[in-house]
Amino acid sequence: MKRHILWILAIILIGVCGMMNGCKDPSSLPDMENGRNLLVKDEMSKYQIVLSSEAEASEVTAANELQKYIKSMSGCSLEITDDTSAPSGHEIVIGQTARDVYGDFDWDWMGEEGYTVLVKDFTLVIAGGSGRGTLYGVYGFLESLGCRFFAPDCETVPKLETILIDADYRDSQRPAFSFRDVFWACAFDEEWSVKQRVNSCFNLFNRTLGRSISPEWGGGISNAGPQHVHNFEMLVPVDKYFESHPEYFSEINGKRTSEFLYSQLCLTNEDVFQIVVNQIREWMKENPDSKVVPISQNDSYVIESYCTCENCKQINRQERSYSGTLIWFVNRVAEELKDEFPDVIFETLAYQFSALPPRNLKPAENVIVRYCISSCAPHALTECPANASAVENIEKWLEAGFNLYVWDYTTNFAQYLCPMPNMERLQKNAQYFYEKGIKGVFAQGNYQDPVSGEFGMLRSYLLAKLLWDPYTDLEQHKQEFLNAYYGGGGAKVGEYLDILHGLVLDHNREFNLVSNAVDIFQGLITDEMLAELDALWADAVAAAEDDETALLHVRRSELQYRYYKMLSKRGEFSDEENYEALAAAFNNDCGELGVSYFSEGNPIPWNN
Ligand SMILES: [Zn+2]
Ligand SMILES: [Zn+2]
Repeated sequence: MKRHILWILAIILIGVCGMMNGCKDPSSLPDMENGRNLLVKDEMSKYQIVLSSEAEASEVTAANELQKYIKSMSGCSLEITDDTSAPSGHEIVIGQTARDVYGDFDWDWMGEEGYTVLVKDFTLVIAGGSGRGTLYGVYGFLESLGCRFFAPDCETVPKLETILIDADYRDSQRPAFSFRDVFWACAFDEEWSVKQRVNSCFNLFNRTLGRSISPEWGGGISNAGPQHVHNFEMLVPVDKYFESHPEYFSEINGKRTSEFLYSQLCLTNEDVFQIVVNQIREWMKENPDSKVVPISQNDSYVIESYCTCENCKQINRQERSYSGTLIWFVNRVAEELKDEFPDVIFETLAYQFSALPPRNLKPAENVIVRYCISSCAPHALTECPANASAVENIEKWLEAGFNLYVWDYTTNFAQYLCPMPNMERLQKNAQYFYEKGIKGVFAQGNYQDPVSGEFGMLRSYLLAKLLWDPYTDLEQHKQEFLNAYYGGGGAKVGEYLDILHGLVLDHNREFNLVSNAVDIFQGLITDEMLAELDALWADAVAAAEDDETALLHVRRSELQYRYYKMLSKRGEFSDEENYEALAAAFNNDCGELGVSYFSEGNPIPWNN
């Protein structure tokens, strides 16, 4: 009887121990299988996750995420402990801890956002230069096991009975660009952004629109003030100052001008300098974690909106560019505030009248210029004569010694739903930016619709991959995305994309960020081809039918094709008598599928 009780106690104890790390009793597991380290087998593991007892919030998130996805893959929930316990010999060490496992880490090479994942005996170490780097390392490791983080509503997590890792595993990575923004609203999701290593928290409209990444998720690079760009008006508001001080604003044709969006600042005015410096101090007080202070021209409808007073004219003449006063001014502000805000970058635009660099002025070391690329959309920067001037300008800025970000447009702003076959250029451009030493990329898309009726999510995913590594296997990423995001419809959607890109590239059709869909495809899509494209979408819908989310994705992405047919009155829209009703039905479908903008700032009119 007693013996029975002892046995029962022993069984209960083993059960409790097993449950403590959420797995069955792992003591029978070998350390290795097939020459590789055995992390998990049959829902059992000898490993525990180890954090510093003083871990940053983002390192705790990294440990929780690793635990969550390993559980999801294998059914085994690893215990999380801290480094005050003695090493157990089987550990996954997350972030910077007191464990003696970092001998092979090159912290200088990794910088703040790089990471290293390596195996040392039976310890797996995942650590970055900061909490953000460690998070990136965890997701990198999970991707190596087959996880994919395509979209906020689309992830792939393989089911694995056994998780093995090479005994000499080592993966060290760091980003190609220190500033990485995919400014598509469908890509603003905090967790997705961290999983895809997008680190910009630039925002607009009094910080109400844009990406936000909390310290728990590693934080990001946010701008000071109400928006990341076009903020002269916020630095020195017309309403506040024009009446009493018209001399603060652009002199145009001999007259100081206040008209909103037609005017800039008089940058050689001493009061303007003081007001701007003080306003920046206020903004930094409101958001002390800001890393970039934007000082940039209003988005004027009139290109010649710069100040032409005698002082401004003189500098711009000397510098042979209207960027002369701008750089002179931003340098002054950056010098003035550099001791107060040593970790902050002062950023301005090379845009419209300021597209060319100054002839003599050199940038202060804490100044960055964001060059806005106006270009032929389907063609890579280096492969199209229409893009030659953009390339020439970028290289002039670099030769003049400026640190550059680029602002690349990746959607059609006049028609968010216009089919935009511009994916061929993404990788070539990213490689060009990297090879030229450009520090950051702001890839702007449809920043208003939280879901895209074109291919915003696919493009965001590919862009994020490229901003981390411009030489990544983009075709593989694309195929994986199509098959996961569109489910059974992925192959057909891929065919559609190939046909559209082929048409535009084979016929050397050029278009830009505001072209009309009808013009882009004029004469390219024959009636037979239209029927073929119709069939592709019908097949894609049918093939995704048994997967609700994939079907939603297919129908949403089909909107851009239906939009083209609506504008060009083709296919079902060639029925003139029913055109109004069909257009109304299309608008309603947009609403049902969550798409609410036809173009930048213009909501779709609802019909019921
Ligand atoms: Zn002036
Ligand atoms: Zn071109």
